[in-house]
Amino acid sequence: MLQTDVAVIGAGPVGLFSVFECGMLNLTCHVIDSLDCIGGQCSALYPEKPIYDIPGHPCVTGEQLISNLKQQIDPFQPVYHLGQQVLELTKTSDTRWILTTSRGVKISARSVIIAAGVGAFGPNRPPLKDIESYEGTCVFYAIHSKEKFKNKSIVIAGGGDSAVDWAIALEGIAKKISVVHRRAKFRAAPESESRLKSLAQAGRIDLVTPYQLHGLQGDGQNLRIVEVIDLSNQVKHIEADILLPFFGLSMNLGPIMQWGLSLDKNNIVVDPLTAETNIPGIYAIGDIATYENKLKLILSGFAESAQAAHSIKRYLYPHEIVHFEYSTTKGVPTSRA
Ligand code: FAD
Repeated sequence: MLQTDVAVIGAGPVGLFSVFECGMLNLTCHVIDSLDCIGGQCSALYPEKPIYDIPGHPCVTGEQLISNLKQQIDPFQPVYHLGQQVLELTKTSDTRWILTTSRGVKISARSVIIAAGVGAFGPNRPPLKDIESYEGTCVFYAIHSKEKFKNKSIVIAGGGDSAVDWAIALEGIAKKISVVHRRAKFRAAPESESRLKSLAQAGRIDLVTPYQLHGLQGDGQNLRIVEVIDLSNQVKHIEADILLPFFGLSMNLGPIMQWGLSLDKNNIVVDPLTAETNIPGIYAIGDIATYENKLKLILSGFAESAQAAHSIKRYLYPHEIVHFEYSTTKGVPTSRA
């Protein structure tokens, strides 16, 4: 079983910064996130938007902030477990918790920081029978490499920026692209929509509107046909190797609500001086944590990370006198022993 001092649930900006604060106190961290990339809301919802209220950064995009945070915590060598949700949290002793993820990974941690924001992010999955069996081979909710789709017949479903931008980006790489949307009008940026429509007029992309996904045909591993249906229940078959559904992200606090934590609506109640929850050894920070006059801002979450790390140090080493040191005095490790 994997062992760590601190398990951080959530790799949003606040969870990431908690690794720095723990690292400065010589506490090791494993970080788990349901998304397959780090960054939480900054990466998933607004990577290119400028943020203006991060101290010391007059203007930084969500993506840049996360890249900087990653660089800042790299020296502490956190272990990431991405693309998996923490489903269970079981106490084995006062200073031992076992976390179990949706991929069956088990992590034994001496304390837990919950930095789960507004919940675990995951793709909105279209309700198609047996879709799970094609996921990862023929059905993808995000694209990391265009090369994978070379010479493939692709159905892209959705009407927003992701669907339209990827249809344009994959044109010329894929063998055939069909874009399925339930309306003739798309919700993408106007210039992207006009580009899509001119590619359709040139016969380089097939627009299948107004249609919705209806079913999949294949052998359970290899996709052969995507079935689509129109408003008068006419079903049409599109030959396809790949389906790319782009219906946005869902957020789900899910199992966290069942762990016996003191809650206020969808937030975990903490002591703002320590970030402690009602369960000793479990701390909550960032958007998911609440207390009187809480500001859901990244900068508040950063301060809460420091409170949590120092509280954990006191909790795990009650007899050790921790001398507070500035980072300018202590420095940061170039690598961990
Ligand atoms: P999040 O960023 O929400 O990250 C939480 C992570 O936890 C997610 O990646 C999620 O997948 C993961 N997770 C949850 N549950 C589980 C689980 N059970 N297992 C595994 N992983 C789990 N704030 C500012 O300060 N300034 C701004 O200008 C600003 N602009 C914003 C603009 C927009 C459009 C939005 C949407 C938000 C903005 N915010 C801004 C808010 C800011 O993004 C949040 O305060 C911040 O992201 C909170 O960070 P976090 O780490 O607490 O949570």
